[in-house]
Amino acid sequence: MRTAIYPGSFDPVTLGHLDIIKRAAKQFDKLIVCVMVNSDKHGLFTPEERVELIRRTTRSIPNVEVDMSAELLSDYAKRRRATMVVKGLRAVSDFEKECQMALINRKLNPNLDTMFLPARQNFTYLSSSVVKEMARYQVSLSGFVPKEIAEDVQARMNDFLSDK
Ligand code: ADP
Repeated sequence: MRTAIYPGSFDPVTLGHLDIIKRAAKQFDKLIVCVMVNSDKHGLFTPEERVELIRRTTRSIPNVEVDMSAELLSDYAKRRRATMVVKGLRAVSDFEKECQMALINRKLNPNLDTMFLPARQNFTYLSSSVVKEMARYQVSLSGFVPKEIAEDVQARMNDFLSDK
């Protein structure tokens, strides 16, 4: 069984992430989309909520599992018997950081390699931060996040703004 992991913050999942998920899922028996929990970073959504949003948008892809972890990625991969990490690359600026991470992960876990998928051209500008910025200014999120979650993302941003 060939298992790959697609790790990230996914705060929230975007159409760019979803495109990588669909393409990667075709290449493996199982793809685990894993929300990596970083205690230093406070997100718009809790890790549990991010998992739920990803589950909602990937329900129709049978070999995708959604999980969260606070472990080191190389340890998590070992535990889940995954041999590949999947990463999406938007620009050269992503490459430098991601290449360094890939080398560290392989050093820590020699059975773990990384595969890079180029972002689809119309999503190269897209990130979770861009989504949050658009939501802050009430721009329609329909071209940025999966339709199943657009309303929830806007509602959470509105709550966040009204609490301030
Ligand atoms: P973001 O930068 O949007 O906060 P994450 O930290 O959740 O994203 O990123 C998880 C992975 O998804 C990384 O490999 C990142 O390069 C990739 N990724 C993010 N946005 C896109 C996109 N629009 N197209 C392709 N890959 C993407």
